[in-house]
Amino acid sequence: MIDSHCHIDLYPDPSAELEAVGRRGDVVVGVTNLPSHYQMGLPHIQDGWKVRLALGMHPLMATEHARERPLFDKLVKQVGYVGEVGLDFSPEGYQTRQTQEETFAHILERISDRKRFITLHSRRAESRVLGMLKDAKIEGAVFHWFSGAKRDLVAVANAGHLFSINPAMVASQNGRSLISAMPPDQVLTETDGPHVAIKGRPLKPGEVGSVLEHLAELWGERYDAVEARLKSTFERALPPKGERN
Ligand code: MN
Repeated sequence: MIDSHCHIDLYPDPSAELEAVGRRGDVVVGVTNLPSHYQMGLPHIQDGWKVRLALGMHPLMATEHARERPLFDKLVKQVGYVGEVGLDFSPEGYQTRQTQEETFAHILERISDRKRFITLHSRRAESRVLGMLKDAKIEGAVFHWFSGAKRDLVAVANAGHLFSINPAMVASQNGRSLISAMPPDQVLTETDGPHVAIKGRPLKPGEVGSVLEHLAELWGERYDAVEARLKSTFERALPPKGERN
């Protein structure tokens, strides 16, 4: 199982969740909302686990950005995974739009030196996020939980970026309609746990089985063929071997 976007640090007992995915050998990208959170989590990742922490600066935490930026700049040089970063122009984020854009432009500038795995938030700001990636000449980033218009989805796909799909998207009609427009070779799986709950229970890290089943049916492929396809797509999105820390 590949979980390309999971907030391990937001579960009630993060170290227990880490232990469980670490021992199972699940491939999990543990995103963070602030650099200080990344710094706190890093010592808990054991060698040999297929869990990676991503350095993040969430758009809805804009009031913390100025204070956290020096730490981001220091840590970013050594990381191969970045997220959750991006923009949120929904009513929840609209007021901090300007700070978000300044932060995101700064982040993109800092990560344009080499290839990293990048997982993006783009709620109600899909075309702006896409435009800023283009300006920064960043390719192969992952739009997490894409919920925008179909024409923006097509533009993101045509630019060669990827989409990560979670069980909540599969459970919604609009989500399924968007998924059907995504090119199969540009799709990854995620939980966005613990934010996503199915039947009232938050998803565990790596719990993406319902997405795989849906994709197998949609694409007319065997379950293991879908798994192989997702694995190779994920491989393409990763930094070069040796820089996957
Ligand atoms: Mn998230």
